[in-house]
This record gives sequence, structure tokens and C-alpha cells, in this order.
Amino acid sequence: MTERIVIVGGGTGGSVLANDLADRLGPELDAGDVEVTLINDGPDHVYKPVWLYVPFGKREPADGRRALDELVDDAVDLRIDRVSEIDTDSQTLRFDGTAPSMEYDRLVLATGSTLEPEQIPGLVEGGHDYYSESGATDLREELLAFTEGEIVLSVIGTPHMCPAAPLEFVFMIDDWFRERGLREDVEVTYTYPIQRVHGNPHIAEWARPIMEERDIAVETFFNAESVDPDAETITSMEGTELDYDLLVSIPPHGGVDLIEEAGLGDDGWVDVDKHTLEAEAADNVYALGDTADTGVPNAGSVAHYQAGVVGQRLASEIRGRPATATYDGKTLCFIETGMDSASFVEFDYENPPSPAPPSEKLHWSKLAYNEAYWLTARGLL
Ligand SMILES: Cc1cc2nc3c(=O)[nH]c(=O)nc-3n(C[C@H](O)[C@H](O)[C@H](O)COP(=O)(O)OP(=O)(O)OC[C@H]3O[C@@H](n4cnc5c(N)ncnc54)[C@H](O)[C@@H]3O)c2cc1C
Repeated sequence: MTERIVIVGGGTGGSVLANDLADRLGPELDAGDVEVTLINDGPDHVYKPVWLYVPFGKREPADGRRALDELVDDAVDLRIDRVSEIDTDSQTLRFDGTAPSMEYDRLVLATGSTLEPEQIPGLVEGGHDYYSESGATDLREELLAFTEGEIVLSVIGTPHMCPAAPLEFVFMIDDWFRERGLREDVEVTYTYPIQRVHGNPHIAEWARPIMEERDIAVETFFNAESVDPDAETITSMEGTELDYDLLVSIPPHGGVDLIEEAGLGDDGWVDVDKHTLEAEAADNVYALGDTADTGVPNAGSVAHYQAGVVGQRLASEIRGRPATATYDGKTLCFIETGMDSASFVEFDYENPPSPAPPSEKLHWSKLAYNEAYWLTARGLL
């Protein structure tokens, strides 16, 4: 009987896994013993890290898009459809509209994060972001026209994608205005919900003095409650009100609704064993990337490493061997510290991060990694 492996989500984790399985299970796929189907709700694969550079005019949104059918191995069945329901008892997926349902033997959820700006009254009307393609494109127009005033970058709610990206944005903003001789006329304020400037204490301890040196004002314990787009103010639950001329937010994030509806976890994040990535509430279900609630950052590097683990485990299971591969929490991240310098961190469940001294070489390494991404997504690097 053919084993049907179905992956939902053709972003970083899902695409890397699909190509990994095509490679690992080549003989079984050729013999028809296994089928791998990748389902995505659009025809394109989107590489989100490009959006950080769009507001500064350094990249185009199109640089972060490639057709999935060019990126994914031909041995994988690609289905462009939106999964609307997961029934883990009958091992069935249902779709929007009239599309027929699909049964699976093994399911992998890689549905990523969803932005939920509507959670904060006034944020949709008053705020900008670079966490979506349209947001980054609109913000570019605002930034290019901005020559003086107050910019507030507010991190609203965690977890969010790429915990380093808010720090990168304020470091880049600072440098970008300095290079153009406008920094004296632009005030930059960074807000964070807890008592430090980043969720990870080691990264927070490293970043705070850089912010002080660069004259970036900091408001910690700032949990945004509402935005008044007419008065141009953002107010926190703690009672602090900040004026802004340009508000850039990291909006609240959630997973996709169907996860909670399937009883797999709260807020769209799948409860998993953080080493095996198996769902806790259902058999034959794995989750990886942002949607897997492992406690590590929501980052593409994490999705990539986890895809390798799930690929090895699935191949072992298909071949009737014990699945021994486990995820150790490995995360790596380049952190831009300006327009032409960056730091780097690498850590796991056991070993905390220790940011490398910023250098131009690390900045170029980050840019090179972004270019090489299209090869890593194909499983070639
Ligand atoms: C501005 C920015 C900068 C970033 N920079 C970095 C960085 O430098 N380094 C780094 O490691 N990470 C970075 N990230 C984070 C990284 O992009 C994400 O963590 C990564 O994309 C997560 O991969 P994923 O596979 O879990 O989800 P995604 O890549 O988001 O893919 C999820 C896919 O599932 C699809 N989908 C969702 N629901 C359904 C459904 N019901 N049916 C069918 N398909 C569905 C979506 O359309 C999407 O294609 C950044 C993110 C942003 C926003």
C-alpha cells in the first residue's frame, strides 16, 4: 500500500522538507510505495527576510518570491489549495470551496505565522510594518519621504517572526539617517513588552548599550493597548503614551485557526515534543517551523534544521526502522547592526547565544546567505 505523506505549508520549512524527502525517499517514490504531497495556499514560495531591506530601497518585494513548482522537486505532488480543516481521527484534510478532501497517513504542519494587527485598536489605520510584503512596500514610501520627526518602533506581543528583526530595523534606521545627514532631526524610540529590549537576556544585554550609544530611546514594559491615528499616539497597558510621526510595529502574531480547531494547540501553535517534533494531541502528525511550539525563535533557520529532523524521522518510519533523529534547538541568525555591519548568533536548547562583534564581513555573510537561500530551499546546500 502507498504511504501518503502530506505537508501543509510551502514556506521555508515545508519546501525544505518536501525536497529533503524527495532526496531521501527517492527509491520508494520511484517504486510508488510513497507519495509526498506539498499543499500551499498560493503558487509562490515567499522568502520573508528580504522584506527587512525593502523599506530602505535595498531590495524589491519580488526578490523574495519564486514559483513553488520551480523550487520543489518533480517527485513531489504540488497542490495549490487552502486547507480549511484537519480531522486527525479520520486522518483527512478538507479544503476551501468544493475541492475534494484528502486522506493522509502522515501529516506535517508547516503553516507558519499570521499577522493579527486588528488585535490592537487603531493599529491597522495608524501603524506601518515590514512583516508583510505590502507593509514593507508602503513603509518604503513613508521612509523615503521622512526627513524629520519621531519614529517609534513598537514590538507588540511575542512570539513573533525573527526576534532579531526589530533590533535590526532600529540599528539600520539609525545608520541610514546618519549616512544621509538627517539623524539629528529624527528621534528613534524602541518599545518592548518586557523589562529588557529582547526576549533572550544575552541578546538584550548585548543590544542595550548599542542602543544607548546610538541615541535610540528605549521604553520597556510597554505592552501596546491602542493607537490613536488622528492624535498620532500609541498607549500602553502600563499607562505610557508616546507621540509618533511614523509608527512601525511588529504586529501581534498567531498561527492559523485550523490548528486550534483541530485541537492541536492554542493560538494556532501546535503543541509538540520539542525534540521529536511530534504533535502531542494526535498520532502521525508532525509540526515544524513557526507553527511548532518548541520555545525557540520563529526563524527560517529553525524551520530549516527542523525539516532535516522530520525528514530523517519520516524516512526511518517508512522503512520500518526506529526514528532516532532529534532537534536540539539549533538556531542561527545574522543580526544587522547598521547598513553595512552585522553580528551573528548561534545557539541551542543547552547553549545560550553570544553575539559576535559586529563587522562588515558578517553583513556580507548575511547578504550572501539570503542569495544562497534559493539553493538551500532546493536542498542543494
Ligand atoms: C521581516 C522578516 C525578517 C526575517 N528575517 C529572518 C532572518 O534573517 N533569519 C531567519 O532565520 N528568519 C527570518 N525571518 C523569519 C522566517 O521568515 C520565518 O520564521 C520562516 O518563514 C518560517 O518558516 P515556516 O515554514 O514555518 O513558515 P512560512 O515560511 O511562513 O510558510 C508557511 C506557508 O504555509 C502556507 N499556509 C498557511 N496556512 C495554510 C493553509 N491553511 N493551507 C495551505 N497553506 C497554508 C503559507 O501561505 C506559507 O506559504 C524573518 C521574518 C520576517 C517577517
